Amino acid sequence: MSRRRFPINSRVVVVGVASTIAALLVTFIIAGTIGSSRNAQSQRVENTAMIELLVRTVSGGSTESVAEYHKLLLAENQRVTVIVHGHSTIFGDPLIGVQHLFTMSVPIAGGSITISSPIDKSFDPPFEIVLITLGVLLIVLGSLFLANRSANRQTRSRVEDAVRAAERVSLGDFSARIGSGGPEPIVRLGAAFDAMATRLESIDREQREFLADLAHEIATPIQALSGFSQAVIDGTIPIDTAQAAIESQTTRLSELLDELTQLRSLDARGESHLSEVDLEAVAHSLYVEFKPIANAAGIDMQFRGESVTLLTEQKLVETVLRNFITNALRYTPSGKRIGIRCRLVHQRVVLSVSDTGLGIAPEHQQRIFDRFYRTTEARDRISGGTGLGLTIARRAAHSLGGHIELESEPGQGSDFRLVLPHD
Ligand code: ADP
Repeated sequence: MSRRRFPINSRVVVVGVASTIAALLVTFIIAGTIGSSRNAQSQRVENTAMIELLVRTVSGGSTESVAEYHKLLLAENQRVTVIVHGHSTIFGDPLIGVQHLFTMSVPIAGGSITISSPIDKSFDPPFEIVLITLGVLLIVLGSLFLANRSANRQTRSRVEDAVRAAERVSLGDFSARIGSGGPEPIVRLGAAFDAMATRLESIDREQREFLADLAHEIATPIQALSGFSQAVIDGTIPIDTAQAAIESQTTRLSELLDELTQLRSLDARGESHLSEVDLEAVAHSLYVEFKPIANAAGIDMQFRGESVTLLTEQKLVETVLRNFITNALRYTPSGKRIGIRCRLVHQRVVLSVSDTGLGIAPEHQQRIFDRFYRTTEARDRISGGTGLGLTIARRAAHSLGGHIELESEPGQGSDFRLVLPHD
């Protein structure tokens, strides 16, 4: 199948042809007007010359000689009336049906001479004007064609750029970009495509980092488990010694699995399940659940609440508070305090868990919400978690339309707050 290399835009052709026809029409009308006025002008000159001749003839001879001159000099369709001493002589045929008549009358001794001739108003544009107009139009059409061809060439090359970029992205190379430039729709396509590719690139990078982090997190307990198992099999250590370590690593792995499941379910959330939730009751039931654990750890756990109801998702609120409380228990030594609170402050519901535990240094305060991030103190602790808790809490808070605030001072304690809008 033959392929047209530079198809001409049909609109350009239509506009070009229409403007050519319009320009030709205008040119012909103008040129015709100029032509007929030129005819009238030459008629005037001719008639004046004729009259002058006639006057000279009449003043020097008879009307017969006028007739002679008339025969010789006058063109067809002209009519000459000579009036001398009341006697008129008419030469030429009557001008019947003539629309534009040029009449000129000159007094002579004892009378007058009147000459009438039809004006040629025929459509007779001067040839050179038509020629110039056609030349200009040819140049205009030629330029239109060339401009159109170059625009088509540019469009084609930009479309090819877009196709190449799309092919690269389809093969997993998210660094491909179309860039700006070209006709307006391609510029818009490029901007949308590049934004999409940037987003895909960042999701891809995040996933790779996540997998690397996960592999790293899983490696430690798996290595420990395999080491202890092998040692038990080899009989290097007694089973009783290995048991506690194997149990702790298994717990760690199952916690990790549980938190990964929570993260996945937050990512794959469909519709929200909203209901009118009594937030004070939710916070209080968690207090009741965790109070015995706090007591066992020698921590004084307190609850203070005011009645607040909100159209929200109870499960997500519980997820956030559970993470705060678990962390507070994890990073608060025996003999210290943990307070759980629910209150309404300036149209915002604030659910807070404060402790008088380790506290967090300012340089860690933003980063602890990152996946698998733990402070050195937390890493050193045997009771350390997975580093996913606050990531889950922050995602849940965002899903609820709220956010998390943190106030903390090393050695003094921390105050984690879930803030939800209340109207
Ligand atoms: P983890 O499972 O390790 O607790 P989190 O994401 O819940 O993971 O917390 C991240 C890090 O934030 C913890 O490792 C710890 O260093 C710090 N952190 C969280 N809560 C507290 C707290 N109440 N007091 C001191 N440090 C905290």
